Amino acid sequence: MSQRMNGLAGWVSKNINIDKSTKSISIGKYYAVDGFSAKPIRVVTHIHSDHLMGLKDSLRFSSFIVGTPLTLDLIEEIALQDSETRDLFKAKKKPLNYGEKLEFYDSSLTLLENDHTFGACQILVEVDGVRVGYTGDIKLGGKTRIMKDLDVLIIESTYGSPRYRRPFKQSVQEVLIDTVRYGLRRYGIVHIYGYHGKLQEVMLYLRSNGIEEPFLMPENVFRATRILEKHNVLIGNFHREREKDGFEQYVLFKHFNQAKYRRIDGSVLNIILTGWEFENPGRKIDEHTWVIALSDHADFDDLITYVEKSDPQIVVIDASRNGEPFELAEELARRGFITFVLPSKGG
Ligand SMILES: [Zn+2]
Repeated sequence: MSQRMNGLAGWVSKNINIDKSTKSISIGKYYAVDGFSAKPIRVVTHIHSDHLMGLKDSLRFSSFIVGTPLTLDLIEEIALQDSETRDLFKAKKKPLNYGEKLEFYDSSLTLLENDHTFGACQILVEVDGVRVGYTGDIKLGGKTRIMKDLDVLIIESTYGSPRYRRPFKQSVQEVLIDTVRYGLRRYGIVHIYGYHGKLQEVMLYLRSNGIEEPFLMPENVFRATRILEKHNVLIGNFHREREKDGFEQYVLFKHFNQAKYRRIDGSVLNIILTGWEFENPGRKIDEHTWVIALSDHADFDDLITYVEKSDPQIVVIDASRNGEPFELAEELARRGFITFVLPSKGG
C-alpha cells in the first residue's frame, strides 16, 4: 500500500464507524447517518424504517435533522407518533435540496439524487480534505448520480451476492402493467402489495401507461401519496380505502406485510411486489396471485457497476443492515478495490 493509502486507511479507521445495533453510520466528528450516534447533525437518506432508526434519540441529542424536503415532509406526516416529538422535529429539521451544500465548521454535506424511493438521496461529506460518499440504499438508472472522485465510498449490500442478479430489469414494468390490465379486465379489482414508496412508484407507472381507474389505499398510504402530490408527483384519482363503496373497478394498494391475509376467493387479482425474485419478472403463486420482481435496490451487477464507475480509493461496505457484505467485499477485492466491511465480523 502506498503511503497516501496508508494514511487514508488510518483516517477511515478513526473517522468512519458503523454500529451494529444502532445502525448509525458515523462520519467524522459531526455526522450521524441513518441511525443514532452522538453527533450534532443527523442525516436521514430516505423514509424506509431501517434508515429512520433512533430518530427519537437524535431529536434529543442532535442540533439538526437533515434530509431532502420530501423526505422530511414524509417523516413529519407518517413516521412521528406524538405531538412532542413532532414539535421537536419541526424545530430541528433542516431541509436540503439536491446539490445544495450545507457548511458546518470545517466540513460540508451535500445530498445527491438517487432513484431508490421518493425523496431518497446519497450523501457527500467533505471533511479533513477527505471526500466521503454514502449511497444510502441505491437503485441505478433514472436520475441516480454516481459519485466520482471519492476517497471513500460507503455502499449498501442488500443484493451483494452473485446469486442476486436480475437480468430482466427492463421487462418487469411491462409485465406489471400487463398483469394489472388483465386483472382489471377479468376481475375488475386488483390488489397490489408493496412497501412505501414502491407503491407510489407503481401508481405513477400505471398512470403513465393509461390506467385511469381509481386508486384506493389505507390511510397512511393515502397521506404519503398526498405529500407526494404536494411535491409535484401527480397521481390523481386516489382515495381512502374506506371510500371504496362507490367504485366498481379499481386498484387497491396495501402494505407488503398484509399480503399474507390476501383474498384468494376469485373476487380480486392479487399482485405482490418484491425484489427477492431472480428467475422471472413475474410468477404465479396461486390461482389468483402473481408475484412481480419489482425492486428498488441495485442487484449484484449494479452494485459492482456503481463501484467501478465511481472508482473510489477505498470502499466501505455497510454490514449493519440486511445484505451480503462479505460476498460483495470478496468480489470487489478480486477487482482490485481496497475494501472494508463495517461493522467487521467480530464487532
Ligand atoms: Zn430503502
